[in-house]
Amino acid sequence: MGNANAFEVAQKQFDQCADILNLESSVRAMLRVPMREFHVWLPVRMDDGFVRVFQGFRVQYNDSRGPTKGGIRFHPDETIDTVRALAAWMTWKCALLDLPLGGAKGGVICNPKEMSLGELERLSREYVRAVYQFIGPDKDIPAPDVYTTPQIMTWMMDEYSKVSGKNQFGVITGKPIGLGGSAGRGDATARGGMYTIREAANVLGIDLSKATVAVQGFGNAGSHAARLCEEMFGCKVVAVSDSQGGICDEKCLDLEAVCECKLNTLSVVNLPNATRISNEEVLGLEVDILIPAALENVITEKNAPDIKAKIVAELANGPTTPEADDILYKNGVHVIPDFLCNAGGVTVSYFEMVQNAYMYFWDEKEVHASLEKKMTAAYHSVLKTSQEYKLNMRQAAYVHAVKRVVEAMKSRGWV
Ligand code: GLU
Repeated sequence: MGNANAFEVAQKQFDQCADILNLESSVRAMLRVPMREFHVWLPVRMDDGFVRVFQGFRVQYNDSRGPTKGGIRFHPDETIDTVRALAAWMTWKCALLDLPLGGAKGGVICNPKEMSLGELERLSREYVRAVYQFIGPDKDIPAPDVYTTPQIMTWMMDEYSKVSGKNQFGVITGKPIGLGGSAGRGDATARGGMYTIREAANVLGIDLSKATVAVQGFGNAGSHAARLCEEMFGCKVVAVSDSQGGICDEKCLDLEAVCECKLNTLSVVNLPNATRISNEEVLGLEVDILIPAALENVITEKNAPDIKAKIVAELANGPTTPEADDILYKNGVHVIPDFLCNAGGVTVSYFEMVQNAYMYFWDEKEVHASLEKKMTAAYHSVLKTSQEYKLNMRQAAYVHAVKRVVEAMKSRGWV
């Protein structure tokens, strides 16, 4: 996570949008801050017999359009401000995709890479017990995010079900298939992003079958994105990176070998015969498409002038600071902003909730088709607004999303 304070970034972006829409002060006051937040301390017995106390958060940013929705991150650098920012972005994301949901986010300060499965299970269950009264299928529905997995979602769903005395699959999404999970949820964030990249390439006249791609971050979103760029469009993925650093091959990386290396050695940098580069160098490569797919604040005013990609597809949340946004816009880089580009995850999460509610499951083809329809429509409505009102793509996305949330708050008589 970069140095800028993510919540200050989120507030700055919102303030810009509030000025564009000329919003009244009561509306601004309501939307600059979360409606509710919970700070919890979680005692967990570790494998050595001692109890360690972890700090966790759940922020429910705005529920005017429906129950709040958003993932839970397990990360050593988590702070209340990153969680607040991420909860705000979830609010705009759900509104932009026109899902009947508000926005939330959760986080626990911990390093899952240094914890055993048993310790992770006890921490996950403790987190759910701590926020039990405040979440639920019609209140707030968590999901996976950075370093949280379908297995973690299963433990959380199980704990919630145990405490409430009945099976409650709908309390959380991103569950495994067979336990209430949806087909197509695993790669939904990346796949949703692909539909927006396809539309952007069409608009810009880029032939994707000849395009080169660099992916910064090789977690759930990044690794699936690399694979799908190749599989769906025939792009050449020439560089990838993770928290240890990056690798590149001008001709094209062997993605199967990269994935195997990541699985076996926990980092892409150990791939034999690959040229090692830094995370920073990945961002400045001469490629057609750059996909930041890790954490926030990686594209800043310092490195934005070096970005040579024609499209920056933000699969991460908050990878670009407002100062960098201005530079990219001036340089003619087409940015597909985070809460549009990465909205595929929560969109399929919403499909998962629907399937849980009526206990009937769709096949993968149906999930993909419904996702494609939603993402394509959202991309074009943002593009149209950006062209009509001469706004950058992020400002245009904000205008759509914020308008919907304001409308809901007004109809409900809140402001
Ligand atoms: N954590 C994902 C996001 O940032 C998915 C959220 C969800 O599925 O609720 O969009």
